[in-house]
Amino acid sequence: MTEYPYRDRILHMESVSLADVASRFGTPCYVYSRAAIERQWHAFDAAFGKRTHLVCYAVKANSTLGVLQVLARLGSGFDIVSVGELERVIAAGGAPARTVFSGVGKRADEMRRALEAGIRCFNVESESELRRLDKVAGSLGKIAPVALRVNPDVDPGTHPYISTGLRENKFGIAREEALRIYHEAGRLAHVRVTGVACHVGSQIVTLAPFQDTAARMAELVRELKRDGLVVDHADLGGGLGVRHAAEQPPEPAILVQALCDAFAGMEVELHVEPGRAIVANAGMLLTRVEYLKQNGMKHFAVVDAAMNDLLRPALYQSWHDIVPVQAGGGAPERCYDVVGPVCESADFLGLNRPLAIAEGDLLAVRSVGAYGATMASNYNSRSRPAEVLVDGAQTWEIRRREALTDLWASEKLVQ
Ligand SMILES: *Cc1c(COP(=O)(O)O)cnc(C)c1O
Repeated sequence: MTEYPYRDRILHMESVSLADVASRFGTPCYVYSRAAIERQWHAFDAAFGKRTHLVCYAVKANSTLGVLQVLARLGSGFDIVSVGELERVIAAGGAPARTVFSGVGKRADEMRRALEAGIRCFNVESESELRRLDKVAGSLGKIAPVALRVNPDVDPGTHPYISTGLRENKFGIAREEALRIYHEAGRLAHVRVTGVACHVGSQIVTLAPFQDTAARMAELVRELKRDGLVVDHADLGGGLGVRHAAEQPPEPAILVQALCDAFAGMEVELHVEPGRAIVANAGMLLTRVEYLKQNGMKHFAVVDAAMNDLLRPALYQSWHDIVPVQAGGGAPERCYDVVGPVCESADFLGLNRPLAIAEGDLLAVRSVGAYGATMASNYNSRSRPAEVLVDGAQTWEIRRREALTDLWASEKLVQ
């Protein structure tokens, strides 16, 4: 990736030395490349060509305001799963009119706020939700734009925790039920059917599940139109994987072309909801080696980042490349488990990594721009890291490191 060269043996992001970032903002610290985020967003957007479309960035992948702001300035749409994400989009300058609301458990207050803000569409995931939305919209004197999230029963071939489009998953409405519920929606006074939606999983690295899904959704749109329902858009979800090691995910342009092919000749606006594919490779986590130690045959690098900062290795067994920020320091190369200070054996960032490092060295954990900072917690009473956006030669601290007093700011002692 061109954004991350070594110059004078120091890892850079765009024109900024990551050693400088670490000394200015401390470690652990998330760093994001604005150029990488923008390039990925444009890769999706441009691939649609003249076809009407909307790229709705999935906010849960990385919801830091500065990241949302970069995307809002490109004219991005947004895919949200809570009212909190809606408020973030608005605070970052994003357009509610280009925002779609996904998720299986939308509360009435979340629906109200989204209706008041004037979002583009509710992706409804059950009959009960549809009826509740009708009631809430009615109480506000509004009509809710609705797509049903249909479960196409496609196996995305990914980790079970991030498969969402199988019959047995909690997400969406079963394909065989879809027509009946669409007709029910057509009879409700305060919802207006505008589209179809789906999302089958995450970190999908082959084209076939997307092609299957798109073909099934195109067939559904044909059936709905035949039945006289108005369908003005088809939302094909997110889920495109990124390269961590040997994966070879299709390029965004190839994916978008396959979606356009499945809908060739059909007059529907196409929506996609990529999260990971836009921000994952744009982000790194900087961490400092506190201790090197050996237990029996095993070498450990104990670093100052932990599972509370980056949960993915513990939760999904995800593999992230770990590289030294300063190359060629002359330390002997050994095979390390790179672990954090948290009291859990699952607290590792990487296992069996050949690294030539010394205590005090800086490491960069790669491809953590998605589902990194957003999943950070305060476990072990650790403050969450700073986040920095790099833009050419400039750096912006888009989230300051939490202060220790932030940890208990919302707590009260008993009287
Ligand atoms: C999580 C999610 C996405 C984004 O998934 P990525 O794998 O990050 O692209 C898109 N749509 C919905 C409904 C989601 O739940």
